[in-house]
Formats: sequence, C-alpha cells, structure tokens
Amino acid sequence: MKTEQLDAQYIAGTYARYPVVMDHGKGSLVYDEAGKEYIDLGSGIAVTSFGFADDAWQAAVTEQLGKLQHSSNLYYTKPAAQLAQTLCERTGMKKVFFSNSGAESNEAAVKVARKYAADKYGPERYTIVTLNDSFHGRTITTLSATGQDVFHKLFQPLTPGFAMIDAGDTAALQAIHEQTPVAGVLIELVQGEGGVHVLDPEWVAELQDYCAAQDIVFMIDEVQTGNGRTGELFAFQNYGLKPDVVSTAKGLAGGLPLGATMMNDKTQDVLGFGDHGSTFGGNPVCCAAAQSVVDRLDADFLAQVKAKSEYLMDALANMDGVTEVSGLGLMIGFRTEKPAVEVQQLCRDNGVLVLTAKDKVRLLPALNIPQELLERAVGVIAAACAS
Ligand SMILES: *Cc1c(COP(=O)(O)O)cnc(C)c1O
Repeated sequence: MKTEQLDAQYIAGTYARYPVVMDHGKGSLVYDEAGKEYIDLGSGIAVTSFGFADDAWQAAVTEQLGKLQHSSNLYYTKPAAQLAQTLCERTGMKKVFFSNSGAESNEAAVKVARKYAADKYGPERYTIVTLNDSFHGRTITTLSATGQDVFHKLFQPLTPGFAMIDAGDTAALQAIHEQTPVAGVLIELVQGEGGVHVLDPEWVAELQDYCAAQDIVFMIDEVQTGNGRTGELFAFQNYGLKPDVVSTAKGLAGGLPLGATMMNDKTQDVLGFGDHGSTFGGNPVCCAAAQSVVDRLDADFLAQVKAKSEYLMDALANMDGVTEVSGLGLMIGFRTEKPAVEVQQLCRDNGVLVLTAKDKVRLLPALNIPQELLERAVGVIAAACAS
C-alpha cells in the first residue's frame, strides 16, 4: 500500500494532512517520496530550529545516542544537568523541570502556580487566567487553558478553575481575582495558533505589575516563541520582562521531543520531592540535542535571525495581494486577499511549504535558513498572492 493509504487505514484520523509524503531533507530543503524538492518555511511548526539533518545537531545527537539513550530520573545524567544550567544562565531563571512536549511544560507551570498559591494562601486560590485566542495544548487541562471555544466543545467536563480575559483587559483580571482568587496568569507574548498576534508590550508590563502586586504567579508560554524564534533566546527577553515561570518545547531540541518549565527565585522551590515527574523527561539524547541548539543561539546568530525577519516582513509588506503583516523574529503571519489556504496550496504546488494560523498565512522558517532560499521562497509567495 502507498503511504497515504496505510496512514488513512491505520492512523487515527485526527490530522487533515497535505498531499505530501515527506521523505528526507537537508537544512531548509525537504524532499517527498517522488523526489520533489520544497523550500520549507514551517520547520515542523517551529521545531526544526536548524532545519533537517543539520550536521552539528546530528553529531550531538548521535554522540549521545552511542553513549546512553535513557536513564530514568532515578539517576543523574550530565546532559540534563548541563542544559538546565545553560537555560538558567541565559535567562535568569533558577530551576528547570524537563518534560517531553509543550502541553506537559504548561501542565507543570499550572501545577507550580496552584501549589504556590495553595501553600501560601490556602486551597481556594486556584484559578488560572489565560487569554482569549490563546493556545496552550491538547491535554484536558491545557485545553481548559486554551482560550478558543472550538477547543472546548468536546471532552467535557474540562478541568475546572480556568478563566479567560481579552489581551489588554486588566480590569477583567481584577474582577475575576475579586470573585475567585487567582493563582496564576499564563500568556503567550505572540499568539501563534491564534493568528500570530503580538501582544502590546505596555499592557504586558502592566499585567506583570498587577501580578506582582497581587502575588499572582506570572507565567509565559514560550512553547512556540522560545529558543531563538523571535530574535532573542526567549520572547520575554524582547519585552524586558521578569516572569515567574516560563514554559517551552517545540524548537528547544531541534526536532526531538523535549519540554522545559523554568522557574525563577520566587517559584524555584515550589515543586518538591515527589510533587511531579516524567519517565522520559530530561532524556539525555534530547538534552544533548537541545544543548547544541541553545549553544548556537548566541548574539551574532540572533542578530541574523532579526535581519532575516526584517527582510521577510519588508518583502511581505510590499507584496501585491498582502493586506496585513504581523509577527516577531521568524514568527510571521500575513493576511492575503486570496484565502490563506489557496495561497498555501499555490506555494506548495510551486515548491514552498508555508503554514496557516486562523485566516492568515504563517511562516516559521528554520532559524538558519540561507538568505538565498528565503529570496527564492519570497518570489514563489509573491506569485501565489498576486491576483
Ligand atoms: C504548540 C504549542 C503548545 C503545545 O505543544 P505540544 O508539544 O503540541 O504539546 C502549547 N503552547 C503553545 C504556545 C504552542 O504553540
């Protein structure tokens, strides 16, 4: 049977896939089973930070793979300890809990906020406030945290104790806090799945101040925005914030599953012995991969991410058929006169893979995509957007 047929017969039908069977890739080029070449501007949804089969990444992974692929958390391993040190030194955070996905990194964040509040103020203070149009994951609890009604219709009852406000509405948070004491606030600084919506830095600073004044745990979901994506190691560094908890995953290990929940001086000791755990969390191969990714995201490299961002934003802003551009770093969305899915299909037919987010086209290229490939891809996008 062909791959498409095997998939349709044996894999749960939760994904509407595009008619491409990805076979192999190198850097930002990827090839399907028939050998057709594509320039990839999606990175497996912000995951393959250095593209496909990157040499340095592959060397870091295979070296660790040849030594020890798993240990369980009953024993120490150097890759996890070292990666945690690097993440803390580069962010000012104090401790890390490792898991395997974005949803799990947010689950841990929610646990930190609830335990912090319960320890200090008692069990009634459990509400977690998130934003409308947010996306925090697919587990029952992170679905409950996700501020999009489409995700709330199935799987009732969802986890209680979540409430949503609009970005910008501090008064709504205050009203909730007066009714049902708030343990934590969880936000994305750029809402990726919600349409690449960049939050207003002034409001986020106001939100952080309110949380600090009320001793509400201020948490940032950097699952998509983290790991160099927005031109700083983490997006909160673009905003000059001091979050209590930061969650991340996607691009952290460059294509292997790894989630991280980072805690600051206020929250570092909330989770104690036996309070949380994960069999695969902190896997040494994934951590070695992440170490190689994070070590390469130095100031010079991040400056190149910003330069490529400027080039792309500028090219899109001046493109016929493009009506609006938003984003930060190499996390870019744009609205087109044609439906986004039509632009996406035209791009795919002509060898460029782009994503969508709500009704926008979305670009999340590998952070090291060569300028020459970006320029070629821009030409294909321009042709697809033109009427
Ligand atoms: C993708 C994403 C998640 C979920 O990550 P998974 O690894 O799919 O569990 C959570 N939050 C944000 C902001 C995301 O973009």
